[in-house]
Amino acid sequence: MKFGTKALHAGIKPDPSTGAIMTPIFQTSTYVQDSPGNHKGYEYARSQNPTRTALESNLAALENAKFGRCFASGMSATDTIIKLLNPGDEVVCTNDLYGGTYRLFTKLYAKYGLKFTFVNMQDLNEVREAMTDRTKLVWVETPTNPMMSIVDLVGLSKLTKDFGTLMAVDNTFATPYLQTPIDLGADLVMHSVTKYIAGHSDVVMGAIVTNSEELDEKIGFLQNSSGAVPGPNDCFLVLRGIKTLHVRMDRHSENGQRIAHFLRSHPLVNRVYWPGFDDHPNHDIAKRQMKKFGGMISFMLKDDSLEAAFEVLKKFKVFSLAESLGGVESLAGHPASMTHASIPKEERLKSGLTDSLIRLSVGIEDVDDLIEDLEQAIG
Ligand SMILES: *Cc1c(COP(=O)(O)O)cnc(C)c1O
Repeated sequence: MKFGTKALHAGIKPDPSTGAIMTPIFQTSTYVQDSPGNHKGYEYARSQNPTRTALESNLAALENAKFGRCFASGMSATDTIIKLLNPGDEVVCTNDLYGGTYRLFTKLYAKYGLKFTFVNMQDLNEVREAMTDRTKLVWVETPTNPMMSIVDLVGLSKLTKDFGTLMAVDNTFATPYLQTPIDLGADLVMHSVTKYIAGHSDVVMGAIVTNSEELDEKIGFLQNSSGAVPGPNDCFLVLRGIKTLHVRMDRHSENGQRIAHFLRSHPLVNRVYWPGFDDHPNHDIAKRQMKKFGGMISFMLKDDSLEAAFEVLKKFKVFSLAESLGGVESLAGHPASMTHASIPKEERLKSGLTDSLIRLSVGIEDVDDLIEDLEQAIG
């Protein structure tokens, strides 16, 4: 089955008691048993919920994976993957990482005896050099946030398999429509479902998918033990959002392309970061592992100051100034003071995250209006 058909149908069956075509919102905390232990596969709603099960099966199918699990947020999904590790274990991570992930790793898990090393994964030699016999996990984001660098997932998975290390990919930016890391050799794929998958800026949720039954069992144990599960209403909203994921991603990518080229030709813009450019340093890899290039774009002004960036952000009329991304409406953010404020300045400058960098999540509005808005805001 092709993606667009799976998005609508995978894991979703008409409700057996009524024939309802939409998966009902099973707003219940428990399930009645016929006799002790004799039940219909559902005992208690932290452990299982039918609305959640439908979503979990659907997400697994979209990622070409066998197993899926949903969580209360993207961060609780990441937290679950880190709990697979033991004190003394080491993790090698992309240096240009989602700010919240960096915070979870360095501020919370470092004190439990885990060691995190951050490297530039565009150079796989740097990854190899950072790996030791204690490295149990490699954590990757591609495209990276907010610099839109691309990591070669096939190359990296060869390396992690040689070392016998798990490879986890945060696939939030690409979505399973643009990139399926399981097909490229990843062991685990994590999502902030909050973003493109839900797609309408109305839900916070996370997910993990894998092809390994052993890993899925461990993740299921952690999901049930720690209990960071999403409620059935949110699962329903995400199931509804997913039905248009492919259509939305096509439009995000089309609008993204027009806007990336517009920005690049603007006299007051210094640099534009978007993996779809022919001369993007990792464009060939992006072309190989992604179907299209999406609507996430960062750009830096010629006047590389906080004030210049704030001035532009203040003038936007269609773009809204907000954290987050991946919704149908266009957002603009300022990583240095917003999403990446928890990363020390020296660290962020190393990956090119300068003071005037503005990140756009290009929505699915009419692209002419978006370009007009950028034109008047940049001046
Ligand atoms: C938002 C985001 C997260 C965290 O997800 P939440 O749903 O906000 O907890 C992780 N990784 C990336 C790339 C994100 O954009």
